[in-house]
Amino acid sequence: MHPRKIAIIGGGIAGIAFAQRYRQLGGRVSIHERGMPQHDPGMGFILLANGFEALSHIGRRSAVKDLSYPLTDCTIRDHRDQKLVDEKLDSAHGITRSAFLEALGQDLPEGWTRYGQAFSHFEYHPSGQAHRAIFQNGEGVEADLFLGCDGTNSKVRGEIFPASKVSRSRVVELVSVIENDLLVARCRKRFMKFRHKDGGLALGLVPATRRKLIWYLQFDRQKYPTPEADPARLESFSRRLTQGWSGPALQLIEATDFGRTRICHTGALSPLQQYFSENVALLGDAAHAVHSFTSQGVNTAIEDAVYLAEALTNGHATGSLDPLAIYSETRRNAMRTLFDFGNMLQDEFLAPPTADQRIPLATTA
Ligand SMILES: Cc1cc2nc3c(=O)[nH]c(=O)nc-3n(C[C@H](O)[C@H](O)[C@H](O)COP(=O)(O)OP(=O)(O)OC[C@H]3O[C@@H](n4cnc5c(N)ncnc54)[C@H](O)[C@@H]3O)c2cc1C
Repeated sequence: MHPRKIAIIGGGIAGIAFAQRYRQLGGRVSIHERGMPQHDPGMGFILLANGFEALSHIGRRSAVKDLSYPLTDCTIRDHRDQKLVDEKLDSAHGITRSAFLEALGQDLPEGWTRYGQAFSHFEYHPSGQAHRAIFQNGEGVEADLFLGCDGTNSKVRGEIFPASKVSRSRVVELVSVIENDLLVARCRKRFMKFRHKDGGLALGLVPATRRKLIWYLQFDRQKYPTPEADPARLESFSRRLTQGWSGPALQLIEATDFGRTRICHTGALSPLQQYFSENVALLGDAAHAVHSFTSQGVNTAIEDAVYLAEALTNGHATGSLDPLAIYSETRRNAMRTLFDFGNMLQDEFLAPPTADQRIPLATTA
């Protein structure tokens, strides 16, 4: 199968990564993104070895590395700043989402991405195949293959699998990025986590450049009701939850612009039976939203994109097997253990910390 026309719905990590790999293999696509080019693209994340391996297929490994910050260790301490766990990390880098998208999207031909196109629904051929995607602004696009890359609350997934369910995770994150070289230096290339002794509350620090630090407060919403997304409330909430903590909490709060701080509800998607239906396939969070504890959302989204682009251009196809079926089977198998691991990490987070707990990152080796 080498579809003549591919329309990608959602221009985030999976959508752009697919476009880049497919372009390198001689194909072209159109990307339909609901946001505008300059819309605030969010905070940041940790890239892991499997993400870098997938990036090397797109030729973006070094461009991304140049914009990221190496993390050599993961250190977990309690809220009194007593060390609990220290573990070496392999090929982990912190990066802001905007820097990552900049490196990933380099050289994408102008005009491939159309902004302000929020997917609404499909029109179908009598055969049951999708024929045209319709956007909320009334515009539409015809294609042979549609890729739903529209994130955790995917409308494309809702169209092809109406029974699929995303439940709000019990753990919520307040996330911000600050510029503070002293705090970055204090991390000494470590991904740091400070955990409250009662469990269900943690502060995470991820250096993303020499000056930029992503930080988040992770909390059990059953114990700590989620505040409204208003700067003053977010600030008082952060102060209240970390009152009396040793370590960098107070310094972080003092350095934060709470007008640029977000509340992120992570979603847990019950595993799908397959990642496609007819001529519509799902990639990234649309296919498999995993717990943020695994730090695998971005990494596995890039892997999906590379795998599918190569399968469609026969890299993995054997005989007459449908590349969408091969993609779906292979990637579902790869994700299976991550779901379980994410649940286990969440259980550990909700319980009081111990000195033999796992670090909150999952490898896919
Ligand atoms: C607080 C937080 C921390 C995280 N930390 C990490 C981490 O450390 N490591 C990690 O690997 N991952 C992390 N993740 C997860 C990671 O951000 C996602 O898994 C990743 O972005 C998935 O890529 P995607 O392309 O599937 O979705 P996204 O990157 O979310 O892209 C979806 C795109 O689709 C667009 N869209 C949505 N609906 C429509 C529509 N109807 N029509 C058209 N376009 C639409 C959106 O505007 C967006 O551009 C974190 C997530 C959160 C919330």
